[in-house]
Amino acid sequence: MTSPEIRVQGLHKSFGDNHVLRGIDLEIAQGEVVCVIGPSGSGKSTLLRCVNLLEEPTEGQVFVGGTEVTDPDVDIDAVRRRIGMVFQQFNLFPHLSVTENLTLPQRRVLGRDKAAAERVAAGNLARVGLAEKADAHPSALSGGQQQRVAIARALAMDPEVMLFDEPTSALDPELVGDVLAVMRSLAREGMTMMVVTHEMSFAREVADRVVFMDGGVIVEEGRPEQVIGAPRHERTRHFLSRLL
Ligand code: ADP
Ligand code: MG
Repeated sequence: MTSPEIRVQGLHKSFGDNHVLRGIDLEIAQGEVVCVIGPSGSGKSTLLRCVNLLEEPTEGQVFVGGTEVTDPDVDIDAVRRRIGMVFQQFNLFPHLSVTENLTLPQRRVLGRDKAAAERVAAGNLARVGLAEKADAHPSALSGGQQQRVAIARALAMDPEVMLFDEPTSALDPELVGDVLAVMRSLAREGMTMMVVTHEMSFAREVADRVVFMDGGVIVEEGRPEQVIGAPRHERTRHFLSRLL
């Protein structure tokens, strides 16, 4: 049994008086896909952001690949390099081409030379089905294409884990499918993934495990067919009934 890729232990996070995360314990194995669901304001984004220390936990520990990222002496940049993150907003640089959006962080953060960074960029653009958009600017792409570029940009950093925070929530419905298809193929390749999403069909099909959060705690977790198909808790049933 290998140690978990992500381990969250006794995690609390408060913003002032607002006690948002109230004791989260969660382990994610290498290659596992965990979908996090729950109502708005339940702390899903805060949990993801605590995993890569975009937010500093108030209490508790987070380990990624065996390194305690909450250790005050940890090299936080080295930790973040191992964690890819994709947000609802794609945050591409509008003045740079698609390829330049992918090469810039590789060169700045990993110190790759131009040719190496361009090779990696091309490979990852092909991986998300956008090889032909290498020279385009983001404004010439659909929202779904921009989000796939954002995924390719994260992958170009060779992350050990990928965190997704509602990656399809800002997209027109007809553009959601292509982004989910890219995520599905990543999951099949064995990427360790933590995905906050409202796409229940994606969670059912792709997740190894679904975690339902409410009020800053994990209310229940288990196989998707169990949590989504036959929830044990009233709060989970109530949440799911409102999505239909
Ligand atoms: P979810 O992603 O489940 O909708 P969030 O984690 O975004 O929930 O937010 C949970 C709570 O934490 C909300 O009450 C929100 O207002 C608060 N919160 C999140 N981020 C911050 C922040 N940077 N500063 C203050 N409050 C925050
Ligand atoms: Mg959120």
